[in-house]
Order: sequence, then structure tokens, then C-alpha cells
Amino acid sequence: MNKLRYQVAAPWLTARRVINNFKGRPPASAFRILMLHDIPAVQIMAFERFLEDLKVSRKILSPEEAELLLDGAPPEHPANDWGSLPVLISFDDGFVSNFGVAAKCLAGHGVKALFFVCPELVDLEGEAQARAIASNIFRGNLDWRQISEDRRLMTWSELGELRAMGHTVGAHGMGHQRLSDLTGEALAREISGAGARIEEELKARVDWYAFAFGNIDSIHGDALALISNYYKYCRSGIRGVNSEATGRYALLADQIEADLPDTYLDLVLEGGLDGRYRQSAGQLSRMLE
Ligand SMILES: [Zn+2]
Repeated sequence: MNKLRYQVAAPWLTARRVINNFKGRPPASAFRILMLHDIPAVQIMAFERFLEDLKVSRKILSPEEAELLLDGAPPEHPANDWGSLPVLISFDDGFVSNFGVAAKCLAGHGVKALFFVCPELVDLEGEAQARAIASNIFRGNLDWRQISEDRRLMTWSELGELRAMGHTVGAHGMGHQRLSDLTGEALAREISGAGARIEEELKARVDWYAFAFGNIDSIHGDALALISNYYKYCRSGIRGVNSEATGRYALLADQIEADLPDTYLDLVLEGGLDGRYRQSAGQLSRMLE
């Protein structure tokens, strides 16, 4: 399936560029959010190359710069082309590989990113953490014994160092639960408990939330209302472009992996996959109405 997808990426990208040329100018505040997860050691070189290419082709926003755009400040780097919109980089789940990537790759390029973590999983260690990662993050699709030591999660002290490097730590749920499975106390604990616990450990306000799994079926109106009571911004995993006009709790993001073929990454960055997510994006933006 994926192979076929990569094979059609080139003609698809060509078609997309024609469409982008006819779309007129994007809103000046338009940007995309990229969503990455664990970056295993074998992908670090690919990520480094990806970052270099990204820097050449567009502005990489810091979380603060993205916040200003969403809050309606006049853009310092107005978007002028759908194909090269500025991007904000985010990482989900808090794997320790993110710490290495931040210290080595992001620091080298002066890039600041958003890291979404689950406090209850950070609090676990060793086998207990591996079991929780397998059941909550991989939903049982991976045996806990396959989760090696280099797949552990960042500790509180590493998260503190991330902040000291200028990155932003956001909440990804207390224990990476699917919000649409929860109600009442459990839902409130998963959402606001996460922010409160991170704030207690890192002594800093948490403004960002990214709901686990990120798809439209993993969120509902009650959950998003609770998120909006506690946080300032909520990022989904639904693809598309953000701008000042996007609801701050309906932010869209493109899941990528560092070692995807270049043409496929360009297709993602130039909006080639947005069409399939338009309905979900619309549903999410109406959820708080
Ligand atoms: Zn996640």
C-alpha cells in the first residue's frame, strides 16, 4: 500500500503544484504543523537532511511565533505561496530519541519545537513503562518486550533540560488514553490532570494540548470543551493548513516520518494530502460551536 503511494507521489505532486498555482495567495498567517514521533537512531541522518532541506525551502516557526500568528499578530514572515508555507515542528509521546534529536539536530539549526508528553507514563520506569507504552501508545500492536531501553520516555529532568534549551512542552493526555473512550472524572483527569502534573514538575504553565491518536474519532465535543478550559491551543493529527482563522482548538498537523521519500514529503508539505482530511478538519472546527 505504502509503496504504491510513494510511486504515485511524483505525478500527484505535479498536479498539486498546478492546483496551488490556481489557488491564489494563502492567508498571510498560514502555516503547517509537522507531527513526528520516536526517531530511531537509524533515522537521525535522514532527519538531519530533512531539516536542512526544510530550512532552505521555508521558514521554521518556533512555538512562540506560531502562537503569535494564531493570536492575530501581524506575521513577521507572511506566507506567500501554498507550496512553501512556514512550519512548526512537533513531536508526540516523548520518546527519549526526541531528546537526542533536540540536542543534536534542532540545536544545530536553531530550531525550537513542541514536545507533547504523558505525565503518567513519564512517572513509570523500566518494565512498567514498557508495558504502558505497548498498551497505551501502541494499543497492544507491539509486545512490551520489543520495547528496548532506547525506546524509553524522557525523564522529568530531560524534559526540564528541553525547556532550558528553549523548547515547549505540551500535554498529550495523562496516560495517552483515547479521549472519546472517556467521560466524567476520568476524562477530566486525563485532560487537566496532565497539564497540572507537568506544571508541578517543570514549574511552567502548559498552554498546548495534543489529543492522543489525533484523528476525528478520538475526540468529542465534551473533551474539546474541557481542553479549551485549561489550555490555549489544541493540536490534532488531522492534515491541513492553519492560520489566524483556524480555531485555536482545531489545529491541524501532518504526520511524517523522517525517512519518507523526498517526493512524498514534498507532497505532504505542499498540501497534496489535505483533500482527504477536509471533512474531518471541518468537523473538528465545528466541535466547539
Ligand atoms: Zn501519541
